[in-house]
Amino acid sequence: MRKNVTRMARQKGKSRRRIKSLDEHVISDHDADTALSPQSLSERGVKIPAHRLSAPQDNLEDLPKVEGMVVGLYPGGAMVRVDGGQLLCNLAKTFRPPAGASPLAVGDGVTVALTQSRHADGSLADDRDRSDGMIIARSPRETLLARPQPTSAKRRDEYKAETFLKVIVANMDMLLVVVSLKKPRLRRGLIDRFLIVAERGELEPMIAINKIDLARPDEHFLAELAERSVHVAQCSALTGEGVDDLAGRLVGRRSILAGASGVGKSALVNAMVPGANVLTRKIRSKDSRGRHTTSAAAVYDLPAGGMIVDTPGIRELGMDLTADQLPWYFPEFEPYVGRCRFNNCTHTHEPDCAVVVAVEAGHIPQRRFESYLRLLETL
Ligand code: GDP
Ligand code: ZN
Repeated sequence: MRKNVTRMARQKGKSRRRIKSLDEHVISDHDADTALSPQSLSERGVKIPAHRLSAPQDNLEDLPKVEGMVVGLYPGGAMVRVDGGQLLCNLAKTFRPPAGASPLAVGDGVTVALTQSRHADGSLADDRDRSDGMIIARSPRETLLARPQPTSAKRRDEYKAETFLKVIVANMDMLLVVVSLKKPRLRRGLIDRFLIVAERGELEPMIAINKIDLARPDEHFLAELAERSVHVAQCSALTGEGVDDLAGRLVGRRSILAGASGVGKSALVNAMVPGANVLTRKIRSKDSRGRHTTSAAAVYDLPAGGMIVDTPGIRELGMDLTADQLPWYFPEFEPYVGRCRFNNCTHTHEPDCAVVVAVEAGHIPQRRFESYLRLLETL
């Protein structure tokens, strides 16, 4: 916040400067190389009416605006993907997203007021000063994936009832879990966890069974997935079999990529997205400007529409799920977990368990409780 204020002050001092060209806001090819998306974005600039280009930048209202999607976060700002490039943005002083959840997350739709990032002599502002725009508003989130909250202990205290949602990614509609049967061997527990993550986040789950050139799934496994109404695609990034089918099913969707390391996520993205070149991609903990990026996503556009988003947080969500976090993924347990006799109740064998009572009374669906128990066993 403090940083923002100084930045604003600095910009006020420069308010005489005029915006010359929108190209100055759109990251150049050189920058795109170090930016968070590996895909070269369209050259097309954003068209801004001429009269808006001469707006003084200390008045955000008068600045040209663009809509974009957050693809990376760093303290005090975000990388925003817009039509034509990526913008490094700070938060406007007036930006006040709803409390109770991360102000910004990968996938958020934002409105950016374009500011100027070059000095009057045309040289680029030095890296630390660089800002292409100010985020002035965020769209309401349609879906969100969040990190598990601290367990029920806190909820006992009504005055501390407010929870904070640490949002990993917003506005996606599908969770694409890539698995392989061999090399690496299938871990069913991982599938279970991701299915639960998807459900909590209201995302449609799809399992892509990759490396079918090495091994194909048996009927039993497929039936089990079908029973849980999971979409299944079978493919081999190596031979290309099934890749078109998978890509076809992702058209028009915003999918988040998940799955264990080595199952072929990168190979699949490369097979579906010409020019994605994922293996050469390195997510940097610091970007070229020395800013620490806390969360950076790679976004790949599918040729027929839709996108695949690869964001680091989601992987941990599936793998690090622990038993005490599990109830958080079952929102229907929420009214009861704080009422168990024991603070650390696992809702299995404990006396006076409010969750078990609620299941017996029909307030929590039996099916959901069984799903909880099954999952608990895998943790
Ligand atoms: P990621 O960690 O999930 O991104 O996995 P990678 O895409 O890096 O793939 C890991 C290894 O599996 C690489 O050596 C790939 O060449 C290999 N691989 C990927 N897809 C396939 C496939 O469909 N069949 C076979 N046999 N190997 C694959
Ligand atoms: Zn309990």
